[in-house]
Amino acid sequence: MDSTSSSAYHRHRRKDKVVVIMGATGTGKSKLSVDLATLFPFSEIINSDKMQVYRGLDITTNKIPIEERLGVPHHLLGEVDPVNGEFTPSDFRSRGGSIISDITSRRKLPLVVGGSNSFIHALLVDQFDTESDVFDGSSSTSISSELRYNCCFLWVDVSFPVLSDYLSKRVEDMLDLGMVDELAEFYDPEAKDLEDDSAHRTGLRKAIGVPEFDRYFRKYPPARGLLSAAMVEGTDPKGEDNHLRKGAYEEAVTAIKDNTCQLVKRQIGKIFKLKRSGWDLRRIDATEAFRAAVTSESGGSNKKRWSEIWERQVVEPSVKIVKRFLKE
Ligand code: ATP
Repeated sequence: MDSTSSSAYHRHRRKDKVVVIMGATGTGKSKLSVDLATLFPFSEIINSDKMQVYRGLDITTNKIPIEERLGVPHHLLGEVDPVNGEFTPSDFRSRGGSIISDITSRRKLPLVVGGSNSFIHALLVDQFDTESDVFDGSSSTSISSELRYNCCFLWVDVSFPVLSDYLSKRVEDMLDLGMVDELAEFYDPEAKDLEDDSAHRTGLRKAIGVPEFDRYFRKYPPARGLLSAAMVEGTDPKGEDNHLRKGAYEEAVTAIKDNTCQLVKRQIGKIFKLKRSGWDLRRIDATEAFRAAVTSESGGSNKKRWSEIWERQVVEPSVKIVKRFLKE
């Protein structure tokens, strides 16, 4: 093939199909991806959350637990060693691109799932410029809608007040699951960036929870060699006997909740930017399901109500959209 006919071949070659599930943190993207992969059993999931690509801090970064993955293959989830430095959008483009080629060569469907829009953008655009951050307000480069795959975008959206109530509850659940012990183990008193906020850190040390609890551990270093910081007598951060410690702990928890809400706002801003640039994002409104999750008391009937609404308002419309896309 000469170069002219080779480029004509590439232009006319049918692009690989990719389903992309995007949305702010906490909107149920991981759950939806496994629901869809169960209904379209030839699917494999590629994580596009930039903190979840790293190995470690599974509770803090809220990785979907293995038992909830229901045997669906997940790629780039906890695979990158954080000691190797920052995993960049450009790294994601090349690793994610190879994974998509591998999945499609086996005649399976790639589902890209995660909240990092700079990763999604880098992976999908036809021409990627490593030098420019298209989401930076001062950047002169606009977002291109020329994509290297044939994409079906599902944008899971939850109204902000409902999502922020849910996220506050989720932080409490993460603490109950052992987030403080996980962060205590990760704490490095020798780290050069200990004093810095997340903007000046690299890789996993930026994850929400790490800078906030580094501040706490600087004042109250975790006991080494013990199973749980909270198990040491007199150092229970929730204990009533130590008001200062309790205050510092509450401060860290409040900062985590506030920073998570700030992250949601930034993510929604980026999604609007992609939409305005011509990306065909199909909005799926999951607000009602989340409202049911935050308003009713916990218990079996609540869970049932939640999953009925989730099924009707989120899974069913998503299935319709994906079915139509696969038929095209
Ligand atoms: P992107 O810029 O790629 O769209 P993003 O949606 O994750 O990424 P950013 O505004 O870049 O949004 O914020 C990223 C910061 O949010 C991270 O540096 C980290 O502090 C935090 N963050 C994002 N995802 C997680 C996560 N899963 N767990 C903990 N912190 C997270």
